[in-house]
Amino acid sequence: MHELSLCQSLVRQASRVAAEHGARSIRRISVRIGLLSGVEADLMLHAFPFASRGTAAEGAQLDMELCPVRVYCPQCNRDSEVPSNHLNCPHCGYWQTHLSGGEELLLASIDLGIETDAQTLTSSKPWEVPHV
Ligand SMILES: [Zn+2]
Repeated sequence: MHELSLCQSLVRQASRVAAEHGARSIRRISVRIGLLSGVEADLMLHAFPFASRGTAAEGAQLDMELCPVRVYCPQCNRDSEVPSNHLNCPHCGYWQTHLSGGEELLLASIDLGIETDAQTLTSSKPWEVPHV
């Protein structure tokens, strides 16, 4: 994963939302990152100040929530949280489970600075990940 270009796309997307709402600044961006997405949270935090410099998101706080790996078991019809290195169903041990979580990259919410009132937009939109 290229965290800098990922950060840049996040900043672009957030800036567009801010512009649509007439906001001059962004106070906080919250994202949800699946544990299997390949994105390193530390690298994102490091890249964010560079990606946001000179944009509406400059100085914004970047909140990241890591999403656990989940599998769906067709045998017992249950969805369970599992460790990323063990995708078997924890209830019956079935191995042909389907991944149902852990790969997501979502832009969860943005706090905009509009005059003196802070406004939080909750969207849970997919993050527009660049193809590099
Ligand atoms: Zn099962």
